[in-house]
Amino acid sequence: MPKYIDLTAEMYNGAPAFPGDPELSISWYCTLDTADFNLSVVSMSTHQGTHIDAPLHMIEGGEPVDRIPLDRLIVRAVRADLTYKKPREEIGIKDLLPYEKHIDAGCSVLLDTGWAKVYPKPEFFTDHPCITPELAGWFADKGVGIVGMDMPSPAAEDWKSVHTVMLSKGTLIVEGLVNLDKLGSEPFTLFAIPMRLKQCDGSPIRAFAILD
Ligand SMILES: [Zn+2]
Repeated sequence: MPKYIDLTAEMYNGAPAFPGDPELSISWYCTLDTADFNLSVVSMSTHQGTHIDAPLHMIEGGEPVDRIPLDRLIVRAVRADLTYKKPREEIGIKDLLPYEKHIDAGCSVLLDTGWAKVYPKPEFFTDHPCITPELAGWFADKGVGIVGMDMPSPAAEDWKSVHTVMLSKGTLIVEGLVNLDKLGSEPFTLFAIPMRLKQCDGSPIRAFAILD
């Protein structure tokens, strides 16, 4: 019997968004009382909550989210335990060396810094641990398919170079994951499934893992 772990944050009206991005709004368009059926309207950015960054997010002419094939969204992955990291602390190559035997083109990585527990406080978006541009390059050079994390962004000050070095080589970025502590230490199968938003730069995803 496979074990499923939901890695997706709840989405609700007024849920915090990345500073400067539009807020998530969910409201009734009509209800059983007004029209004999319930139907809602959702408004949000493509980077709301648990989501994937497609190369088009940062790269001129980059791959849009609807063109990423499913075999790059359903991948083997391993959790890296980085829960010892403090707010704003750097995550460097040396932090990932214990997992190097797993991490390659055939196995993605999810960075568990324990930061998901800070959500929804404002500092969730500002004080998170950050990966260095060198580590971003290390992932990209290995051909890692997805670098996922519980932070809202892989980096604060260096966000542009960190995103660009990975997205320019086709390493996809998944942000805002939850429940990473439930993944154990062995590789598993990750599903990071976006909406098929034509020519869009990213999408909220339903992220989950199936443990072996
Ligand atoms: Zn994003």
